[in-house]
Amino acid sequence: MEKGQITEKKKEDSFGAAERRVRESVERLQLSPAVYEFLKKPLHFAEASIPVKMDHGGVELFTGYRAQHNNVLGPFKGGIRFHPGVTAESVKALSLLMTLKCALVGVPFGGGKGGVTCNSLQLSPGEKERLSRGYIRAFSYLFGPEIDIPAPDLFTDGQVMAWMVDEYYNITRRYLPGMLTGKPVEVGGSVGRKEATSRGCVYVAREAAKLSGITLEGATVVIQGCGNVGGKAAQFFSELGCRVISVCDISGGLYCAEGLAVPDLLGHVQETGLIEGFAGGEKIAGEELLTMECDILVPAAMENQLTAANAPEIKARLVVEAANAPTTPEAEQILSERGIPLVPDILANSGGVTVSYFEWVQNNQGLYWDLETVNQRLEKMMVEAFHTVHRFNREKCPGGTMREAAYGYAVQRLAEAMRLRGWF
Ligand code: NAD
Repeated sequence: MEKGQITEKKKEDSFGAAERRVRESVERLQLSPAVYEFLKKPLHFAEASIPVKMDHGGVELFTGYRAQHNNVLGPFKGGIRFHPGVTAESVKALSLLMTLKCALVGVPFGGGKGGVTCNSLQLSPGEKERLSRGYIRAFSYLFGPEIDIPAPDLFTDGQVMAWMVDEYYNITRRYLPGMLTGKPVEVGGSVGRKEATSRGCVYVAREAAKLSGITLEGATVVIQGCGNVGGKAAQFFSELGCRVISVCDISGGLYCAEGLAVPDLLGHVQETGLIEGFAGGEKIAGEELLTMECDILVPAAMENQLTAANAPEIKARLVVEAANAPTTPEAEQILSERGIPLVPDILANSGGVTVSYFEWVQNNQGLYWDLETVNQRLEKMMVEAFHTVHRFNREKCPGGTMREAAYGYAVQRLAEAMRLRGWF
């Protein structure tokens, strides 16, 4: 094959866009086609049946997966999700995003992903613990602080990580907290990890706002989703002096032109689990929020929320993707044609993996940092990553979107490391 020429044609599904963008980056940057060959699928993929003794006395076999996508920059890294939608293909596709995200933000990790196909909400705490331990028994041979480092993802949390690190100890007789991240602070987690994704997202939003001529003091912010990421993002935006005028979740939305009282709203969500019932704003339908006039729009809920149907109506001056894949490729094209800048997910939500890296560093050193140190280091890495991508956009990807630049920069970094290590 000639340099920069890849002829393979593939039907694009919802995950296919990432693979296509990698291929386009390889072509645009005139990299060796071998780079695409390495990145288009995981280097290693494992599947196992995980037997779990259920509370009813019987045994159930769950299917678990681990994709080790690429480790040219460091150990494989990526979450484990317990979700009915987990398939071999989804785990593989998500592992590619982790490789790109780590390369982009500059943490010395590769990409990985894991999961178990299950309805976690139907499992008792005991069943969930046995499944978590079973997952580690099935795949322990793949894990280790210098090999592959899992983390929480959908329907797995600090408690699941604590069971997993304990099971790893049972198998290896070595207490290695750095074999995974996202642990509770009491068992070697890092302070600041829980809010790191939102904090990182607000740091890059601040940098992007400067470039778009948006003054943060008094700027209007609209956030879709009020969970772990959206709720904390609302808090950090309001701490910067922004007015968070609208927020929604699955129960609907709220609007207040002067800005919502964010601490009270978050207190209400903490207590009840939902925005519904909070008195400090006018009730609106969740969909109204995406097309509302505002300075910064932050989708922080689900994938495929900004679509070809609503993109022509979006009135935000800047979109910052806190969620994974909230914008369809068609919507992105429309926003780009309309001159609305968008900070892509692999950059905007990489604060989580950055502080996971800090957790791993602290575990390896056996020396723990205070919150100020974690936040300062996070800010430095996020701001640097944002400006690196912005510069790359201007110099290597003129006229392209920030997502194209983010992919291009990450792919170039991976390509250079593969070349130097003699992979091609
Ligand atoms: P979460 O479950 O804590 O919160 C999700 C929020 O979205 C909830 O408020 C929920 O009610 C709301 N929501 C769901 N469907 C909605 C809909 N159709 N319309 C409006 N609101 C809806 O999840 P999270 O951890 O905050 O994650 C949010 C997004 O950020 C996901 O895309 C996730 O993959 C991504 N992300 C999270 C992290 C992290 O560290 N938690 C890291 C990177 C990316």
